Amino acid sequence: MELTRRRLLRASAVGAGLAALGPVAARSSGSRALAQAVPLAATFDPEPFPLGVASGDPLPEGVLLWTRLAVDPLLPDERPSPALPERVEVDWVVAADPRLRRVVRSGSTVADVALAHSVRVDVTGLEPGTTYWYRFAAQGRVSRVGRTRTAPVGPLERLRFAFVSCQDFEDGFYPAFRHLAREGVAFVVHLGDYIYESDGSGNGRDHPEETAATLATYRARHALYKGDLALRAAHAAFPWIVTWDDHEVDNNYAGLVPQDVDEGRNDDFAQRRADAYRAYFEHLPVRVDGPPTGPDLRIYRELSFGDLLDVAVLDTRQYRTDQPCDDEQLTAACSEVDDPEAEMLGPDQSAWLAASLTGSRTAWRCLANQVMVGQLKVGGVPSPVGGVLESQLVPTSDGSYVNPDQWDGYQVPRAELLGLVAEQGIPDVVVITGDFHVHWVSDLKVDFDDPTDPVVATEFVGTAISSGGDGDEGTSEALRAAAYPTNRHIRYVEAERRGYAVVELDRERWRTIFKVVETVAEPISPLSVLAAFEVDRGRPGARQVAGANGNPIPRAAPS
Ligand code: FE
Ligand code: CA
Repeated sequence: MELTRRRLLRASAVGAGLAALGPVAARSSGSRALAQAVPLAATFDPEPFPLGVASGDPLPEGVLLWTRLAVDPLLPDERPSPALPERVEVDWVVAADPRLRRVVRSGSTVADVALAHSVRVDVTGLEPGTTYWYRFAAQGRVSRVGRTRTAPVGPLERLRFAFVSCQDFEDGFYPAFRHLAREGVAFVVHLGDYIYESDGSGNGRDHPEETAATLATYRARHALYKGDLALRAAHAAFPWIVTWDDHEVDNNYAGLVPQDVDEGRNDDFAQRRADAYRAYFEHLPVRVDGPPTGPDLRIYRELSFGDLLDVAVLDTRQYRTDQPCDDEQLTAACSEVDDPEAEMLGPDQSAWLAASLTGSRTAWRCLANQVMVGQLKVGGVPSPVGGVLESQLVPTSDGSYVNPDQWDGYQVPRAELLGLVAEQGIPDVVVITGDFHVHWVSDLKVDFDDPTDPVVATEFVGTAISSGGDGDEGTSEALRAAAYPTNRHIRYVEAERRGYAVVELDRERWRTIFKVVETVAEPISPLSVLAAFEVDRGRPGARQVAGANGNPIPRAAPS
């Protein structure tokens, strides 16, 4: 009797856990949303919470909760969800158990049409380093249950988190998020390219035919991405710490300079950026001073995890100067890569980051960054390598070529940042990076061309969740051939797998584990460990501890 009851209890607890994490079938309402969703291969939670729930930016005593009420969210209506009232009352509850019996905080708020009926609740009064479950209710219905976790304080022995980037919906499914949702991590960092603004030309699933360029179309694009049930599951499983790269607005934009100046949709790029930033604010639980009322939104910020880790979340898009030598022929050397006036972070963010780094007292410092910091010089005339060096490369004074969109195009700001780390002796700095859709591991130095220059920090560039699809066979080999001879600080390159990275750190060691799926052509695909690297405290530079490595150059002893 007792056994049976216990088993039943256990079964129901498991069931509740699964409900919190697993997919919820879309309600068959015959709505226009469903008609829109089917050809785009999107599925949604039941209305009025079709986009699921999320939490973000955990503090020791609080966390941000997010949802958005919507009906037909894929339709780029000027007035979001015409079927919903302008203002909808929404109740929320935070509990200490997945069945929401031990409620610790609750309240109500209003979802306003002015913010596309998005809801953000800044919950306070929680316990540090503690797991909670939460749920919203409105119009007599409830959302799925989400799980979140506050940041720890004080002495902390170990921490486990994940980082991801680049989830082009039309390039593939998100089997990686399906696996990620089952990882035991305290939080997930998203390094940008959360949406892609481009029009439909998919190889698997499709974008709408129209490029996102207005508030209504950016909102619909965010809604489409939330139409992936694995993404919703990963949001519901952990708090996320998000930042943006370019595609949340426009490919390779720089500050207020769009990629293509002559496109009609960029006639007022400040307005376009304002719309994109506002839609981003409406769709992600990010602890910023918003909603934005114009083209500016400060998203760079710091989060701390006990005495173990400070995370400085960077924004390398909003304040940068235009990419160097954008429109020049590839014949003359591009002196602009050394332009002392160039800005990557802008003066305010640079000063903030310097203060953050010099003031940090945790064991480790992590920069959550977008474009690759480590130098990638390609010798000789560059040719696109399997589609991954397809951006226009610019020649430098020594006859090699660099990608001007990366920190390589901003060499003075890069030397300033790494020089600060070197001169101030700021220990145990690890950069995590997205954008590239390729795994890279690099030892960071002030002068990458000087073999005697000491390693001052370590960079892990993670692959994409889906962008680039499964990639072309031979790309890794071609990239290695292009990269290794002229970049001896690069420890690892792999370009043909998609997935996410898990970081495990303690007081002695930082370990990055690259986990990849077999294919993104299917929503479900097996996961495996591609490679793993360790960094010892007090000794910057990566050491490979698992996986194959095609680097022909033996690793020098760490300095
Ligand atoms: Fe990307
Ligand atoms: Ca990008």
